[in-house]
Amino acid sequence: MSDFDDLYSEQIIEHSKKPRNFGELPNANHHANGFNPLCGDKLVVGLVMDGAGVIQDVKFQGQGCAISKASASLMTGAVKGKTAAEAEHLFERFHDLVMGKLPEGEDLTDLGKLAVLAGVREYPARVKCASLAWHTLKAALESSTDGAVISTE
Ligand code: ZN
Repeated sequence: MSDFDDLYSEQIIEHSKKPRNFGELPNANHHANGFNPLCGDKLVVGLVMDGAGVIQDVKFQGQGCAISKASASLMTGAVKGKTAAEAEHLFERFHDLVMGKLPEGEDLTDLGKLAVLAGVREYPARVKCASLAWHTLKAALESSTDGAVISTE
């Protein structure tokens, strides 16, 4: 089915099989755990934030479906080097994209590679898989060093 092919594009499959920024981040000063009970996706996001509020490094670990892993891989690549405010703005844009809220013909340039997840908007059940990494990032940005736990439910 072509719709299914749209969702599981080559880039998504590639990112899910070989996720970027996957692993432990021993010097992380912010982290959070995310859980999507609908699908069983579990993620830990670790961040190294500098004094100016810039995300110097970001990594994730965990297990989940192809969409959740690909999204975490793309998220980490997209937010590295950005400020917390820029990352949260990108999350809002990404969330609008996967919720199908962006108008037809919208310029997606600022979303970069994240746009490959646009097909998720046709699959409401997968929106939580795609946004889990972002919710977890947000929780990590807002957390103390003790870490936070979020659930999509
Ligand atoms: Zn999932």
